[in-house]
Amino acid sequence: MEMSINPGDSQKKSEPKDVKVLIIGSGPAGLAAALYAARADLKPIVLTGMTLGGQASLTHIIENYPGFPEGLGGAELGELFKVQAERFGAEVVFDTAIEVDFSSKPYKVKTYGAEYNADTIIISTGANPRHLEIPGEEEFTGKGVSYCGTCDGFFFKDKEVVVVGGGDSAVEEGLFLTRFATKVTVVHRRDELRASPILQKRASKNPKINYIWDTVLEDIQGEDAVTNVSLKNRKTDEETSFKTDGVFIFIGHTPNTELFTDKLDLDESGYLIVNNRMETSMPGVYAAGEVADSHFRQVITSAGMGAAAAIQATRYLETLE
Ligand code: NAP
Repeated sequence: MEMSINPGDSQKKSEPKDVKVLIIGSGPAGLAAALYAARADLKPIVLTGMTLGGQASLTHIIENYPGFPEGLGGAELGELFKVQAERFGAEVVFDTAIEVDFSSKPYKVKTYGAEYNADTIIISTGANPRHLEIPGEEEFTGKGVSYCGTCDGFFFKDKEVVVVGGGDSAVEEGLFLTRFATKVTVVHRRDELRASPILQKRASKNPKINYIWDTVLEDIQGEDAVTNVSLKNRKTDEETSFKTDGVFIFIGHTPNTELFTDKLDLDESGYLIVNNRMETSMPGVYAAGEVADSHFRQVITSAGMGAAAAIQATRYLETLE
């Protein structure tokens, strides 16, 4: 299950704390930034947010992060990132930013448990799974509707599940779910997958995976838990009821940028706009990882952005001295 952290449980409210580099978010981007800033002797503070390690920590196995030829668990990789950053002096605080003020320097950040005066800020708040926004989705979340196969797959042992989406996440998580479920039906709104060829090939070899093409979910039904979904074929408009015990939704992500609306430049999808030095529209404020990347969204690209942001923050601080 996702590791939840009590807001501010490691800090008591006191005087604002001065920090040279404040990193908001603890996914691969935030922890890589922490490693680089720590090695520059800047004693960065990382605010973890609700999930240490970010979305990557919810991934069962990461097979495409170089240096680990056998792959390793997402949570394990996150922990290694953390330990490595701490070794050089980064402080990882289990707390969440709730307010930012860029109107004067140093910039001010409030969390549930503390206040910070930060010379530079690296935003690595990541993104959250997008919702279908159909009837029954919210009602049955945790009662059959899930956005994380790694977290909830175990509850579907010997059951049948539907996976919504046609990207890498849908196919990868669908494959993972075949460990538990007797049948995984991928419902995709088009007639071809967006997922990478290697995942498609793996799925095509797995007898538990079936597809329903050109189809969307109209609603999710059940009593105590999910029992059925209503499907609609987008080409024929035919509507059918489909029996299922679970609905796993993987239809992309929404960036976590609510805190920065009207304060930093965002693109039309809500992602933070950065240049190739990870600079946002505010001097000394950088962004890295999925919050500023709707395209690559890989552990390695996020970590690379985090390292770049920390190098740039280091150079910016030198210009202030
Ligand atoms: P994605 O690539 O954006 O795919 C989202 C899927 O959901 C698409 O197939 C899309 O359909 C469908 N979709 C979107 N909105 C929908 C709606 N309202 N109703 C029904 N279907 C909807 O997202 P993702 O799979 O989460 O992947 C995100 C990024 O992470 C990608 O760059 C991916 O390569 C990467 N990733 C990589 C790995 C890996 O390398 N192992 C694993 C996971 C993710 P259409 O195809 O019709 O647009």
